[in-house]
Amino acid sequence: MRTALIALILAALPVAAQPQSLANQLFGARQMPSLQEPQAIGSYANGCAAGLVRLPETGPSWQAMRLSRNRNWGHPDAIAYVQDLSRTAQQIGWKGLYIGDISQPRGGPMTSGHASHQIGLDIDIWMLPPRRLDLSVAERESLSSISVRSEDQRSVNANWTRQHHALLKQAALDARVDRIFVAAAVKIEMCKTATRADTGWLQKIRPAVGHNYHFHVRLRCPRGNRHCVTQTPSVAELSKGGNGCDATLEWWVTDFLNPPRRERTEPPAPRRRHPREFTLADLPAQCGEVLAAP
Ligand SMILES: [Zn+2]
Repeated sequence: MRTALIALILAALPVAAQPQSLANQLFGARQMPSLQEPQAIGSYANGCAAGLVRLPETGPSWQAMRLSRNRNWGHPDAIAYVQDLSRTAQQIGWKGLYIGDISQPRGGPMTSGHASHQIGLDIDIWMLPPRRLDLSVAERESLSSISVRSEDQRSVNANWTRQHHALLKQAALDARVDRIFVAAAVKIEMCKTATRADTGWLQKIRPAVGHNYHFHVRLRCPRGNRHCVTQTPSVAELSKGGNGCDATLEWWVTDFLNPPRRERTEPPAPRRRHPREFTLADLPAQCGEVLAAP
């Protein structure tokens, strides 16, 4: 009887008032950042961020795209990085950069899309070289990026240029960067083009699913951000003089695209929860303060 009564009361409550409200709904509803010291909290796919700043919608060398998503917010380090890289893009002959998602105003899990981008340190940058930097808000909703990968996913296509290589190299050389995700075909092409001396930065270019329409820059935890958790193993540990242009890279065009048939000997691994299913209790404790802060 009592259980039935509680169930009845819970059913009558609006979703937002239930203690189990999803973190992505709570963070997705915040339109402005918290008035706190800038801080990345937690890890890239399980965290939030305090005191984020907005990438201006248009600058001398960039435009933020898909403004309706309100995801052009980042740690001040990330915003400075984007602006610096957009100037570098001009030096290699592009007009600048089109910037995709960074984070929500207070970071956290998102209502759609990414598992990461939660702590203000992940930045998506379009593969499309800008033709104009005066796109209207509406044009920034409708324009699409270009894929630099062939249909069979094994190589780059005619959209890939030397400027893409130069841009990604400069992007990776920056000490603020931990890693950059690109389609495996892009990494394979860059391994072919690079010289032996290019080893160090090339390790930071990592093959990942997707990432043929944009590349994804992941910055290291900013100094002094003691609640920020750097990804392990870090690319620095992986490096040890290598550049990732090896058998592990070939795996992406062999086993990944064409998985060999195997006998099933073990039960399937338990499904990992997507961040869209996280509640506030799943995030670092500081995220409650970020959400509640003015
Ligand atoms: Zn991304």
